[in-house]
Amino acid sequence: MTDATARRIEHFDLIVLGAGPAGASAALTAARSGLRVALVDKARFPRDKLCGGGLTGRAISLYNRIYGAPLPPVPLERRDNFAFHAFGQDLGESTDAPPLHLCMRFELDATLVRAALDAGATDFTGRAGILDPDGPALDLSDLRIEAPLLIAADGVNSPTARTLFGSAYDKAQIGFALEVERPGADPDRPLRIDFGAADWGYGWQFPKTRGTTIGVGGVLARNTDMKAALRRYMDALDIPADLPVKGQFLPFGDFRPTPGKGRILLAGDAAGLVDPITGEGIAHALDSGALAAKAVRQALTKGTPESALYAYKESLRPIHRGLRHARLLRNLMFRESLRPAFIRSFRNSRTLRREYLRLMAGETEYGALMQKMIARLPGFAWRAVSGT
Ligand SMILES: Cc1cc2nc3c(=O)[nH]c(=O)nc-3n(C[C@H](O)[C@H](O)[C@H](O)COP(=O)(O)OP(=O)(O)OC[C@H]3O[C@@H](n4cnc5c(N)ncnc54)[C@H](O)[C@@H]3O)c2cc1C
Repeated sequence: MTDATARRIEHFDLIVLGAGPAGASAALTAARSGLRVALVDKARFPRDKLCGGGLTGRAISLYNRIYGAPLPPVPLERRDNFAFHAFGQDLGESTDAPPLHLCMRFELDATLVRAALDAGATDFTGRAGILDPDGPALDLSDLRIEAPLLIAADGVNSPTARTLFGSAYDKAQIGFALEVERPGADPDRPLRIDFGAADWGYGWQFPKTRGTTIGVGGVLARNTDMKAALRRYMDALDIPADLPVKGQFLPFGDFRPTPGKGRILLAGDAAGLVDPITGEGIAHALDSGALAAKAVRQALTKGTPESALYAYKESLRPIHRGLRHARLLRNLMFRESLRPAFIRSFRNSRTLRREYLRLMAGETEYGALMQKMIARLPGFAWRAVSGT
């Protein structure tokens, strides 16, 4: 008898692999629609995740839509004051920005997992498994779980994407971020964003009541020494150099046009759904998880599980369009020859700063912001970006 045949087998309608915001939202949506769902994560919750914990207006309204409650039931800090800098220059402050809510990810994620389990998903957290992509199925030592469809929300290093495509991300496009946590309350200082603290990225200082997160992040291929960039940034902000540094990849707009293969759908970071300018990923994770679950529900109702991937891909179109626009705009903001014009415009235009903040809040889209920038930037800059 082989290992596989010796194992007990349990059948589900859907396996969700990874229980971060994308997986938890997929499991909740599917369980609420009546599907039998297995929610698997190698970690037990609460678990930590390297993240600024910034919930934009977009993330809050998606939470609202998916969970039917105004705000996640975790400690949140509501902030509406931002200070912008670039290369030592003060670019201005905004004191009435659309709010950003700050949370601790270990609290948020544990709450989202709890909600999915309360909705009826079966708990396989704290268990690592081996994926059988042909099932799809997952071998969990003594147990094999099988389902007609699997949603993989196993993060930026997605072992599932590696199995399906040979690699989890494209090394030339992937982003990387480093963060330190400075203990102590500093809630009155504005949230600070520094363009230029990393190449094709930025630096941030997010003071909260329980500590301050300081970080730099950008396209890895453009930042051969991200540690040195963090050191320079911390020096400039007068932050002690001996704080422990943590690092993680982030997909930064490098999304998979077809988010999965066969009867396996990828969601969240595993599908590359992170904003290439702001690094925001929680909103797209929640959204894509729920959309994947809806596509699964429809395909199973029709009796055609293999149709789920196409339906899911179609439903991701608005997110993909936004990420494409953001990648275009990123050329304008970060390309060395164009950066001075962007920084000048940003410093001189309250409207542009406000639009950037509205974008972070999910109150406007990249397409609209691009229209405003066309009006402000020299024609050469626009032609360089749009390729016209
Ligand atoms: C430094 C940094 C700062 C950031 N700040 C922000 C911010 O302020 N706001 C924001 O919106 N976004 C931010 N992001 C992005 C955000 O953290 C991610 O986009 C978001 O966590 C994606 O959610 P997810 O569910 O796709 O993946 P994750 O949250 O990474 O969850 C993936 C899950 O899969 C599990 N897993 C992995 N492998 C396996 C396996 N083999 N078997 C079982 N389980 C597995 C993991 O344990 C994990 O629980 C930041 C990212 C970084 C790196």
